[in-house]
Amino acid sequence: MVTNQAFELLATLYCKMDQTWDKVAAAYPFKCDGCEDNCCKSLFFHHTHIEKAYFLNGFNQLDPDRKRIILDKAKEYCKKTFPKNREIKSLKIYCPVNENGRCLLYPYRPMICRLHGLPHELNRPGFKPVMGAGCDAGRFEGKAIIKFDRTPFYQHMIQIETAFRQDSNKTGRLKETIAQMLLS
Ligand code: SF4
Repeated sequence: MVTNQAFELLATLYCKMDQTWDKVAAAYPFKCDGCEDNCCKSLFFHHTHIEKAYFLNGFNQLDPDRKRIILDKAKEYCKKTFPKNREIKSLKIYCPVNENGRCLLYPYRPMICRLHGLPHELNRPGFKPVMGAGCDAGRFEGKAIIKFDRTPFYQHMIQIETAFRQDSNKTGRLKETIAQMLLS
């Protein structure tokens, strides 16, 4: 699978995620409108090479000045978040591509940025279902839960990732924040 085809498959999957998320959010109703506990300040790690390649493809389309500013922020982010000989924990620092509360690479943002916020479930064969509570801003506690199953999205992502790894000879495990991706 050449990269462009992989990107098209990923963009289609992202579109399905967004549509499902919007539908479930509307049913609550829940509107993500920025909040104090902004999820762009979460310590998210990303694990797929295809998402990293797609995200960096978006980044590379930005103008050089903006790229430089973002890279400076990424360096600062890593310096604070991953200091030598100290426990790694979320410091609630904004992701380096967030500017004034907005994601500058919104169409290229990874899966976890898209699926975050709503109560959800994950059903892995051989394991008990994992239930996620949703973000504080949604005040979902006590509300009737609307089914939002992440499983088919994860399964589809694994298929795209497996083919992309084979075609691009990527073998290693990946666990990187957006800041680390940008600096790698
Ligand atoms: S990539 Fe965009 S949506 Fe995801 S954490 Fe960074 S700024 Fe937020």
